Amino acid sequence: MLTVQRAAQRNAARRIREATLQAARWQATRAMSSESGPYDAVVIGGGPGGYVAAIKAAQHGLKTLCIEKRGSLGGTCLNVGCIPSKAMLNNSHIYHQTQHDLKRRGIDVSDVKLNLPQMLKAKADSVTGLTKGIEVLFKQNKVDYIKGTASFVSPTRIAIQLNEGGETEVETKNVIIATGSEVSPFPGGAIEIDEDQIVSSTGALDLQNVPEKLVVIGGGIIGLEMGSVWSRLGAQVTVVEFLGGIGGAGIDEEIAKQFQRSLQKQGLKFQLNTKVISAEKKDGKVYLKTESAKGGKEDTLEADVVLVAVGRRPYTKGLNLEKIGVELDNRGRIIIDDQFNTTVQNIKCIGDVTFGPMLAHKAEEEGVAAAEYISKGHGHVNYQAIPSVVYTHPEVAWVGKTEQELKAAGVKYKVGKFPFAANSRAKTNLDTEGQVKFLTEAETDRILGVHIIGPNAGEMIAEGVLAVEYGASSEDIARTCHAHPTLSEAFKEAAMAAYDKPIHF
Ligand SMILES: Cc1cc2nc3c(=O)[nH]c(=O)nc-3n(C[C@H](O)[C@H](O)[C@H](O)COP(=O)(O)OP(=O)(O)OC[C@H]3O[C@@H](n4cnc5c(N)ncnc54)[C@H](O)[C@@H]3O)c2cc1C
Repeated sequence: MLTVQRAAQRNAARRIREATLQAARWQATRAMSSESGPYDAVVIGGGPGGYVAAIKAAQHGLKTLCIEKRGSLGGTCLNVGCIPSKAMLNNSHIYHQTQHDLKRRGIDVSDVKLNLPQMLKAKADSVTGLTKGIEVLFKQNKVDYIKGTASFVSPTRIAIQLNEGGETEVETKNVIIATGSEVSPFPGGAIEIDEDQIVSSTGALDLQNVPEKLVVIGGGIIGLEMGSVWSRLGAQVTVVEFLGGIGGAGIDEEIAKQFQRSLQKQGLKFQLNTKVISAEKKDGKVYLKTESAKGGKEDTLEADVVLVAVGRRPYTKGLNLEKIGVELDNRGRIIIDDQFNTTVQNIKCIGDVTFGPMLAHKAEEEGVAAAEYISKGHGHVNYQAIPSVVYTHPEVAWVGKTEQELKAAGVKYKVGKFPFAANSRAKTNLDTEGQVKFLTEAETDRILGVHIIGPNAGEMIAEGVLAVEYGASSEDIARTCHAHPTLSEAFKEAAMAAYDKPIHF
């Protein structure tokens, strides 16, 4: 026994010695290489677009540097976006389910209490773990990383204001701008975000107490996700939306209506076709003045906390783009062509700061493709096959065209639907809300769109994305064997409904 223990200790000591030596060797090589000529690629911004681009460029043998000013990698997504919001969504769902759903499953619990500081710590721990993980990936892939703020001196020379003080400059053959986005302020500046009582998504991820009344301005994905979190934790949530439906651009209207009904059952209230005009803070409360979107019919809403979730805008502050001739459009997005080239040769741009949906996986795809254009001269992103997911419960996910888009374009299409209420796994799990909906081209049966509302929709949509990517027909899916009993059988049956007839409904 002792011998085994000693051998394990010796092995561990050897591994530590080797790792230390490797790190020292790596640092020395890096220092020498940064002195030995320009970089092949400098990536500005270490979000999902930037860090992925940097890793891919380095994997393809390019001498690569990533500059990030935040002090940690992962950008909006890992630090104040996708990851912390999903941590809160997951844990608030468990809390809510424990309180309201376990009894009918034969599990009696008592004395269920919310420990909000611990829930916030669990969120912070997952963020730290993942952001540190990217630093490890940088080391493994030999990406140089500087914590600082970049600005252009010329198209090939970049000045960096170092976070720890001082400045340095680097030369490079290529640049990829991946500086992302920031919270859009309330239009016209009528409401000021203080991240205390009037918060952005960043503040909403870190409320230290559950507000009694939370008003969310904006019924898009971020507003609905954060509204769900705080509603599950006990807040009375009202969502005010200027448009006539929730879920933002790209959601199928039928699914959006079903989604709204589902959230209403959970206690969220909605004021659609309503415009917020102003906010007044008084006696610890916020009073929001609203009017109907068409004008007239004024009202006042009282809130303890207001979440302003009216969107995000591209972030290019301090880059000095005017000096080098990189042009923006009238919405502040960096203009690019279909190979991610900006208006300046050798400078590419990806992610939230340019065209397209503001999504982490879209930024990542572009990061890989932009790096490949530099290293190999070609790359590929299929913008018809970018999924969207709302991580509420039920989840909502989609890819491709909506029914309203097909109608507007005059496309002849077929619809195939299958409800989770008829799916054996969903029934067994006592989680039957929602449906899968296929939209196919009437003449060819090619899948044009897939829309899912229901349990695990965010995971299941991957199959829809694959189908769209490979130009599959609903018959292809209908004839593909799906394991039983799984939720994905609902996916297959919806395809059967589009192509022929489902079996179980
Ligand atoms: C609450 C919330 C939830 C979200 N949830 C999801 C989700 O579930 N799924 C999803 O796909 N998307 C989600 N998003 C959107 C997602 O976070 C963004 O689409 C994604 O982060 C964009 O990646 P990016 O690399 O383009 O930019 P960013 O992630 O914004 O990264 C850009 C980085 O560049 C740095 N930078 C800027 N200027 C400079 C400079 N001059 N020098 C050095 N560094 C600079 C910034 O500090 C930043 O870290 C969410 C967003 C929010 C706010």
